Amino acid sequence: MNAITPRGRLFFANPGPTNIPDSILFAIARPSIDFNDSAFFAVYERCVAGLKRILRTEQHLFLYTASGHGAWEASMVNLFSPGDTLLVIETGHFSESWGKMGRALGLKIETVAADWRQGVDFADVRAALAADTGHRIKAICVVQNETATGVMLPLPEVRAALDATGHPALFLADTISSLGCMPFDMDGWGIDCVVGGSQKGLMLPTGMSFTGVSDKALTAHRTSTLPKHYFDWTEMGARRHKSFIGTVPTSLFYGLEEALRLIEEETLEGVFARHTRLARAVRSAVRHWAGNGDGVHLFCENDARASDSVTTILLPEGQSADAVRATARERFNVSLGAGLNKLAGKVFRIGHLGDLNEPMILGTLASVEMAMKLNGVTHRPGGVAAAMESLTP
Ligand code: PLP
Repeated sequence: MNAITPRGRLFFANPGPTNIPDSILFAIARPSIDFNDSAFFAVYERCVAGLKRILRTEQHLFLYTASGHGAWEASMVNLFSPGDTLLVIETGHFSESWGKMGRALGLKIETVAADWRQGVDFADVRAALAADTGHRIKAICVVQNETATGVMLPLPEVRAALDATGHPALFLADTISSLGCMPFDMDGWGIDCVVGGSQKGLMLPTGMSFTGVSDKALTAHRTSTLPKHYFDWTEMGARRHKSFIGTVPTSLFYGLEEALRLIEEETLEGVFARHTRLARAVRSAVRHWAGNGDGVHLFCENDARASDSVTTILLPEGQSADAVRATARERFNVSLGAGLNKLAGKVFRIGHLGDLNEPMILGTLASVEMAMKLNGVTHRPGGVAAAMESLTP
């Protein structure tokens, strides 16, 4: 295949980082400013208030110059002591990674096992909590949207399991690929520590992450003895910005102010509805491609938990998802997400979160269909028409 010089926009269909709207890029493009300058501090305070509105919390927020992994680590080192037991609900690659981090930090990680294609059975969550009569489990850790599988986890059911068993464990939720894409309510759902990042639903560059923290979690923090400094909430609380040990990434806040403006102009409900509409269109295309069952199909087998921010597409045995991704990138300037962990090479992922509209989704789906055709991947042609039908019923 001759190399093709890409022209036009790169269609970025990765499930994070995501497209950055031009107005955010322009907002970020400004000279450096002292992070203690009152002009910056006013922007900073508006951003903190806006982010709390998106998280739906009136409690605490700590921000870090780090990707999501930094906020994951902050949640653990601030809340726990060596040897503490955490219960992680298995969702896929990202629940495994969060648990792996906990073990590396000296915590005991127990897992509620789950099928990656179906999502957890909440009877198993209730049973694990009910069996812990001595309340050895200090926290339950949950990924709201498993970016590797395209399966979402209903957080209110986790709260219900904690309440039904009367278990006092802290409730930690990763919203890295769901915040600003699907409903979330930190205070309403009784979540003690929320982990979020800049580069997905918030449409910003990578580099900033944060944790929403409840009063209950802040109390637990005071007796935690895991070593910490850069992520230490007590150290942060003593500073003017109540966050950031070190230089504040000022440019990202100018971007965040614009991102919050865009989200609130559309309204959060409008943003969620758009994500649902576009996700349904993608799933309609994939269901069409599946044909009589011999073609590519949805990795998520539980329709009620299908993610509104990413769709993972499973290829028939022996067919290469990476070949489809390479053709999409090299021939059509479309970037797709790779399979992660045990799904490497077997699936590709279409990210449909952040700054996206109908023609961007249709262009991506058309390119995926062409890339599948060029690679001899089994599919029933016509997925784009199915997506169009879903968008204009
Ligand atoms: N959690 C989820 C659900 C993710 O999707 C990701 C990254 O894609 C992470 C955690 C890790 O975040 P980061 O790559 O920003 O460190």
